[in-house]
Amino acid sequence: MFKKTLIIVITVFALIGCNNNQNNEQINASQNDVVNPFTTNANGRVNSKGIAAVSINMNFATIEFTRHPVGENDILIEILYAGICHSDIHSINGDWGNSSYPLVVGHEIAGRVVQVGSAVTKFKVGDYAGVGCMVNSCGECVNCLNNQEQYCLNGTIFTYGNVDRFHDNEISQGGYSDNIVVSEKFAILIPSNAQMEKVAPLLCAGVTTYSPIQVMKIKSGDKLGVAGFGGLGHMAVQYAVKLGAEVTVFDITEDKREDASNMGAVKYVNVNNPSDLQNLGDTLDYIISTIPARYDLNMYLSILKRNGQMAILGIPPANQMPSINVVDLIMRNGSRKIFGSAIGGIKETQEMLDYSVANDIYPEVEIINAEPRAVEEAYRNVIDGKVKFRYVIDMKTLN
Ligand SMILES: [Zn+2]
Ligand SMILES: [Zn+2]
Repeated sequence: MFKKTLIIVITVFALIGCNNNQNNEQINASQNDVVNPFTTNANGRVNSKGIAAVSINMNFATIEFTRHPVGENDILIEILYAGICHSDIHSINGDWGNSSYPLVVGHEIAGRVVQVGSAVTKFKVGDYAGVGCMVNSCGECVNCLNNQEQYCLNGTIFTYGNVDRFHDNEISQGGYSDNIVVSEKFAILIPSNAQMEKVAPLLCAGVTTYSPIQVMKIKSGDKLGVAGFGGLGHMAVQYAVKLGAEVTVFDITEDKREDASNMGAVKYVNVNNPSDLQNLGDTLDYIISTIPARYDLNMYLSILKRNGQMAILGIPPANQMPSINVVDLIMRNGSRKIFGSAIGGIKETQEMLDYSVANDIYPEVEIINAEPRAVEEAYRNVIDGKVKFRYVIDMKTLN
């Protein structure tokens, strides 16, 4: 099935040229001057191009593939920018289990609507739209009905690498691509005044940190620790500082001490520096962990005050999972609470995006070209800790 829908093409640029005439049929000039540049195949599937991992271990290539036809509730988005999330790296490296290749990853997607299905009400051609970590769910279970589609009891369809039971069990393909077809329900309306080159990472890194901050009801004067000061962590710091919290940042490098201060953190702890760790016990009300590698969970719990709460957002590779010493949890760290938090629901994602744009809260981004080698280099820098916050791929440079 996968092979049928995803065909690696090496020299079809001439063919694309021939198909350009079909574009004219898809122009919806009445709604806007925006032109749909994408063609469809004989089955109505949308022709797409993207940067895929063609095998494990960062073996990238530009491929051509197709996406399911634009259904009556779907929109077709021309992708302008795609953020690189650490989850993308874990996924193509098989850190969380086997992936199927070729796999186009990317779940921080920002672009422009170029076609809408007949029943679409939320979007019109020309609107800016984003897609985050998920593209469908049952819509009927208690979690979906409570706007928590990421916990769909019948299985959330995530944006890439998932079997899409709503579309003939094809494997979902993500945002390092020139387009995406998605149900309007799972697309987020991007305000037209948003900084487009910075907005994509909000769709994962933004909502993943915004959501637990709402759940914990962080308010002015609260003492919050943010562990892991990367793509997610630097968003958590900005949201919490905006709310008036006193933020302590934890990371394993000296390089980001000044950035933390510039973003409004009151304290920076280099966990590799023993003197930084002194006198921290029982001082924080909340901790948000975004760490994507092994770390000492019991140490962080001991920094919480009694009745403090720790939200865990980062998922390390399977062989680096932190563990809890139950005796410490009871005797040293009793009455602290730990909870996990996966992204946020669609309603909350829209709230987060509107809030972020209105308050000028954006990730720090470095824009790269949509070339396999540039993506590979970016991944190596993320793994080596050489990127400070977020890479964003300019998908208009894909060819
Ligand atoms: Zn992500
Ligand atoms: Zn559901």
